[in-house]
Amino acid sequence: TAPPLLSVNNIEVVYNDVILVLRGLSLNVPEGQIVALLGANGAGKSTTLKAISGLLKTEDGEITRGDVTFKGERMNALDPGDIVRRGIFQVMEGRRIIADMTCLENLKLGAFTRKDKGVADDIEMVYRYFPRLKERTGLAGYLSGGEQQMLAIGRAMMARPKLILMDEPSMGLSPLMVKEVFSIIKQINRDLGVTILLVEQNARMALSVASYGYIMEQGKVVLDGTAAELADNEDVKEFYLGGG
Ligand code: ATP
Repeated sequence: TAPPLLSVNNIEVVYNDVILVLRGLSLNVPEGQIVALLGANGAGKSTTLKAISGLLKTEDGEITRGDVTFKGERMNALDPGDIVRRGIFQVMEGRRIIADMTCLENLKLGAFTRKDKGVADDIEMVYRYFPRLKERTGLAGYLSGGEQQMLAIGRAMMARPKLILMDEPSMGLSPLMVKEVFSIIKQINRDLGVTILLVEQNARMALSVASYGYIMEQGKVVLDGTAAELADNEDVKEFYLGGG
């Protein structure tokens, strides 16, 4: 079988030289799939994504053991920009769109590493997935929470990445909007073949689109399996699926 597109091997992450947050975390993300990373508040999910995207460095975090490999290459020491150029793009938690720029300007920012001529076509592609973004010509700061999330995903699509890291796309959205955003995540995966590592508190939604999932507690994976296996697991049902 082919090696996974992304592989995280036994990493340890420390913030400010003292706070140990990841304690030997391992996971694999095969090409073309959606993989969910689940767990309670503070388990270390966001830290895992930042360790992959290189953003850890901007918060005084460091991988002190283990490695992150992408397409078979070790990524640990690279800067965030290099990691984007190699094909990994992170959609940040809380969306982090630029409030005093327009939607279009935000989308163009996603393409900052590209030199090809396909950028204009890709803006039209993003508008086909998110028609509302085309109608909103004002500043992005005035968009609703759901629209900002759409813009953040659209901006990631503009980078034409191989792998998108998504941090809590459901956060702060109404149930209806959550459904809409997840349906688009699934479509993007299917249509563009982009691989997705999805961090979520909403385990039910995440397992409905993912093929495989990992459950983290205190900086480690404590359980993993196919989405169907996890959705059927008694502990997962009790602790993460609200007894449903
Ligand atoms: P949440 O869903 O609440 O974001 P999470 O599973 O994503 O939780 P992380 O955000 O990765 O968890 O945080 C894991 C632990 O690391 C927490 O105890 C947090 O306080 C700590 N932590 C996160 N960022 C930093 C930082 N920049 N400096 C120091 N400690 C941090």
